[in-house]
Amino acid sequence: MKQLSRSVRGLTVLITGAGSGMGRATAEVFAAEGALVAVTDYDCKSAQETRDRVLASGGAAEAWCLDVSDKTAIDSVVPAVAARFGGIDIVVNNAGIANFLKIDHPDYDSIWDRTVAINLTAHQRVIRAALPFLRRSTSPRIINIASVEGMGATAQLSPYSTMKAGVIGLTRSLAVELGPEGITVNCICPGPIVTGMTADIEESDKIVFAKRRTALRRYGYPEEVAHVTLSLALPAASYVTGIAIPVDGGHMARNA
Ligand code: NAD
Repeated sequence: MKQLSRSVRGLTVLITGAGSGMGRATAEVFAAEGALVAVTDYDCKSAQETRDRVLASGGAAEAWCLDVSDKTAIDSVVPAVAARFGGIDIVVNNAGIANFLKIDHPDYDSIWDRTVAINLTAHQRVIRAALPFLRRSTSPRIINIASVEGMGATAQLSPYSTMKAGVIGLTRSLAVELGPEGITVNCICPGPIVTGMTADIEESDKIVFAKRRTALRRYGYPEEVAHVTLSLALPAASYVTGIAIPVDGGHMARNA
C-alpha cells in the first residue's frame, strides 16, 4: 500500500482574511498541526492578533496586512510569504464580505463591484501569484471558501450568491487545468457559521433559522469548517480535486 502522509507539519499555508472567524480558526487549526502559517488580512491589527494567538499556543506564524482587492499588494505579499517560509504549499482563499441589498437599491452597482473584487477576482489573483511556489511544492493544495449561497440562494444577497457560484466554477475549472501538475483545487461551502459575518444576526433569529433549515438544528463553529479545510490540505488528500463540499450542518440536504 502506498504510504500517504496525514500531516501538514512543516508545510506553509497562506490564508486570506485570517484575522477573524473561519480564517482565524483555520490559522489556529493548521498551526496546531505543525504548519507554518501566513496570516493575512486587510485589518492589520486582527491579523497580528491571530499571529500572536498562534505563537502563544506554540505554533509558527507571521502576519501580513493584505487587502485582497489590491492586486499590487497581492503581488508583493505572496512572494514575501514564500521568502519568509521557504515556499508556499497551501493557499486558503477565505477573505470575503456579504451585504444584503435589493436589486433596485441605489448602491447596487458599487456593492456588486466590491463583492466581485473581494469574493471572486481576489481568488484568481492570489492563486496566480502563488502558482510559481505551488509548482515547487511536493503537496500543492488550493482551497477556496465559497458558500451554500453558491449552490442555493437567499433573497437580497445576489452579489454574494453570484460570486460564490463563481468561486465554485473557478474551483472546477482550475482543478481540471492544474490537475496534470498534481495541484488539487477544491472549495468548501459553509452553511450558517458563528463568525464576524453573522455577528449582527440576533441570537434568537439564528436559533429559529438553524432549527428550521439545518439537519443538525444549530449554527456551526468556525473550527468545524477549518478541520475540513485541513483534511483537504493533507498530502493524503491527493486524489480529491474539483469538488465543492458543503459544511453546513445538513442545510443543503434538508427539504423540510
Ligand atoms: P468574518 O467577517 O469573521 O471574517 C472575514 C475576514 O475577511 C475578516 O477578518 C475581514 O477583515 C477579512 N476581509 C474582508 N475584506 C477583506 C479584504 N478586502 N482583504 C482581506 N481581508 C478581508 O467572516 P467569516 O464568516 O469567517 O468569513 C470567511 C469566509 O467564509 C468568507 O469568504 C465568507 O463569505 C464565507 N462564508 C461565511 C459563512 C458564515 O455563515 N459565516 C457562510 C458561508 C461562507
